[in-house]
Amino acid sequence: MPFDDSLLFNTRSPDETRSLAGALAPVLKPGDVLVLAGDLGAGKTTFVQGLAVGLGIVERVTSPTFILMKEYLGGRFPLMHMDVYRMGRIQEVIDLGYDEFLDPSYVVVVEWGDMVEPLLPQEHLKIEIKHKEGSQRSIAFWGTGRGWEARLDSLKDSAEEALSSVRHADPHKFGSIYDPGDPTDTDRN
Ligand code: ADP
Ligand code: MG
Repeated sequence: MPFDDSLLFNTRSPDETRSLAGALAPVLKPGDVLVLAGDLGAGKTTFVQGLAVGLGIVERVTSPTFILMKEYLGGRFPLMHMDVYRMGRIQEVIDLGYDEFLDPSYVVVVEWGDMVEPLLPQEHLKIEIKHKEGSQRSIAFWGTGRGWEARLDSLKDSAEEALSSVRHADPHKFGSIYDPGDPTDTDRN
């Protein structure tokens, strides 16, 4: 899918990124593979945190950079969260058990998954996060197969809704929603 056909959003805080990810959760189904691309600190782990909340997972998601992979149970279905950044070779990812989790009962999310392109099933959702100015990020979605086109269509509206509800939340009631370092945030008073 060419870049122009991707679904693109802009977020202005970590909570907006979580809320966008939360809006993706309802369209997920077991067997989906999500590939997160983007530099260090782009917001890949932050995105997975929102996704987990959206799936009903209570445990807080932390970066799997050092533990490489972690399974979260207790949500609508099991979530496997991997980070392949520190893997030198594709074989290491295979040895770790990546194949086992391409199991139809899991949703698998792979940070830096674009580094192991040959391992990816052809049908997957790619999410690319780009660091913009300050706490702004652009987040693009491209889906291949598995009905992703229609699913992304339905994400379009629910994500806009989710983002606008974060933007209009009472900043005193939800203190963490606004990034205090974001000078472009004019909603704060
Ligand atoms: P990655 O997993 O891509 O290395 P993390 O999610 O661990 O990135 O870290 C992203 C960092 O950027 C966090 O400290 C987060 O609070 C900060 N941040 C600032 N603005 C945003 C935003 N709009 N979306 C996501 N993270 C943001
Ligand atoms: Mg990370």
